Amino acid sequence: MSLYPQMLAPLDLGHTVLKNRVLMGSMHTGLEELGDWARVAAFYAERAAGGAALIVTGGMAPNEEGAVLPGAAGLFTPADIANHQIVTDAVHTAGGKIAMQILHAGRYAYSPKCVAPSPIKSPISPFAPKELDAEGIEKQIADIVTAAARAREAGYDGVEIMGSEGYLLNQFLVTHTNKRTDEWGGSWAKRMRLPIEVVRRVRAAVGADFILIYRLSMIDLIPDGQSFDQIRELAQAVEAAGASMINTGIGWHEARIPTIATSVPRAGFTWVTKRLMGHVSIPLITSNRINTPEVAEQVLADGCADMVSMARPFLADPAFVAKAAAGQSARIAPCIACNQACLDHTFSMKLSSCLVNPRACHETELVYAPSIAPKRIAIVGAGAAGMSASLVAAERGHAVTLFEASGQVGGQLNLARQIPGKEEFHGLVDWFATELAARGVDMRLNTRADASALTGFDEIIISTGVTARDPAIPGQDLPHVKGYAEVLRGGQVGQKVAIIGAGGIGFDVAEFLTTETSPTLDVAEWRREWGVGDPALSPGGLAPEGPQPAPSPRQVTLLQRKAQKLGKGLGKTTGWIHRAQLQMKQVEMIGGVNYEAITPDGLMVSDGPERGNLRLIAADTIVLCAGQVSERSLADELHAAGVCAHVIGGADIAGELDAKRAIDQGARLAAAL
Ligand code: NAP
Ligand code: SF4
Repeated sequence: MSLYPQMLAPLDLGHTVLKNRVLMGSMHTGLEELGDWARVAAFYAERAAGGAALIVTGGMAPNEEGAVLPGAAGLFTPADIANHQIVTDAVHTAGGKIAMQILHAGRYAYSPKCVAPSPIKSPISPFAPKELDAEGIEKQIADIVTAAARAREAGYDGVEIMGSEGYLLNQFLVTHTNKRTDEWGGSWAKRMRLPIEVVRRVRAAVGADFILIYRLSMIDLIPDGQSFDQIRELAQAVEAAGASMINTGIGWHEARIPTIATSVPRAGFTWVTKRLMGHVSIPLITSNRINTPEVAEQVLADGCADMVSMARPFLADPAFVAKAAAGQSARIAPCIACNQACLDHTFSMKLSSCLVNPRACHETELVYAPSIAPKRIAIVGAGAAGMSASLVAAERGHAVTLFEASGQVGGQLNLARQIPGKEEFHGLVDWFATELAARGVDMRLNTRADASALTGFDEIIISTGVTARDPAIPGQDLPHVKGYAEVLRGGQVGQKVAIIGAGGIGFDVAEFLTTETSPTLDVAEWRREWGVGDPALSPGGLAPEGPQPAPSPRQVTLLQRKAQKLGKGLGKTTGWIHRAQLQMKQVEMIGGVNYEAITPDGLMVSDGPERGNLRLIAADTIVLCAGQVSERSLADELHAAGVCAHVIGGADIAGELDAKRAIDQGARLAAAL
């Protein structure tokens, strides 16, 4: 009997059967825009071979005005069909199925040509959209239908029509963005006319034996969003118009509630799909923060949906389903929902990848080929960089010995996992430990390697990480001054805390000190904290009482010397969440200060270059989060003795060190040895 009987059960759609209940959800990776379609094909084919029953591509624009960005990929011309065929052929050869998502961005299109039901600018775009006239609406429908017909011609097994996340079709549905008084606005029946027309005409164009998924916003998380009754009516109308399945969309992009970040509880939104179960007879797909086979199985067993969508987990591990089916769930590289290498890249106009798996979207360029001349490799330091290098080197057939001074692997990741809302780091460290053992790495824990221990190896890699920077503040030797590592390991902290340094770790420490119980581990508590209500009670699903965060057990002040807004360097798609969290906990954030001295009563600071406004920030504990410097003593000793050693991770460059760079650098070095 299968370990995951629900997740691995086939799903019969009538004209075709999906081999299991796992959909690889749509992600914009930037690959298509490179124009290298063999590379796009390699990316999707690897995921098809890994067992996803149905893949949905990144959003393809039906026309220029609907493109998320000027130059975004689409199926504009018959010539594009040949490119897409390279992808569909590769996926079919790998045993998979693939649907093309048609995404019309409406007022979210980052272009002066953007169009919408009404000329209302979105808060996340600089461009005011042009209001579509009746002819313009007909053109949008025709272009979407043409894209669907071309998708069929290109060999896709279906299309997904993007109707959620605040894009064009979603914009027509709600009075927040649709102020029209013609046949496409006003009453609810008129507001939902466009999505229904689109589904009806697409179905007529593609025929009965083609998968048609409609992605439906089941909780808008904006003011004046849809009510549950409207969501149910729309779902029933979409079914009647010819959809084969309905996928779940959660929240508009402009919503100020996190929907996929790591601090969102696992399966934290599946209840919205469950609400719709039984109201339609076509399969429902649920989504958001499902990242292990166990969670997927539970969601299905609980009757939340007929199928689960996972997107980022397929960046982290293309073989997610195959490993689950083989009883190797512990060997699935986990998506920790950090957004650091995927969405943060997308929003910085960079190609996506994955923090955990640097090969994601680089399948043809970063290849872990078996070594033709296996070597003996010593790696010193089992933090992110050292573990990554060890895994890739061992996978390639090298004999790897990994030295670690402490009694556990993980390095700085072990501090990250202490932060409320970063519980996914537990799984990441566990996965590294599992893989190091499975790939036969010779682990030497509690072993501080010196130069003499490193003789007899063909290659030496130093990944000794970082040590805390000394901020050299007068009075920092007083007993109430602590380093961040000591605090995160459970060191005693008082009621009034000043944190010196507001980088990623300063923010993390502030969150740690202001949160008693992690809401990430309790969906109801997390919903209360962020004000996520119920569309059946309040349209859009915003709780009328607003966010109700648990009070902080202590008063915290977070400081930096730079005069800019605190948290500016945090992740592009997650920084606002960290700032909002600390604001909810009444953390005072002060920039532009000089640290004059630490006294028994607190921290003396002054403002700006002229050092004015000298004052005391009363505190019974001061926590130093002033960044790091490279720990290179061993590397320097080896180099001085003329021994060749590679230096990676924080030991190489401490500035802005993060796990993404460390893992990528370790993997790339090991791929080249
Ligand atoms: P960081 O981001 O470089 O921040 C260091 C902080 O210390 C800054 O606020 C800096 O601000 C301050 N600082 C620097 N030199 C100082 C000095 N001599 N005296 C007093 N203050 C000083 O380093 P981090 O916070 O230690 O984080 C390390 C890395 O871990 C980050 O770069 C980040 O990539 C990663 N990380 C990421 C996350 C995440 O959420 N993605 C979370 C944790 C850690 P001023 O110079 O303005 O005072
Ligand atoms: Fe998941 Fe982070 Fe990888 Fe994105 S970068 S797929 S969020 S682990």
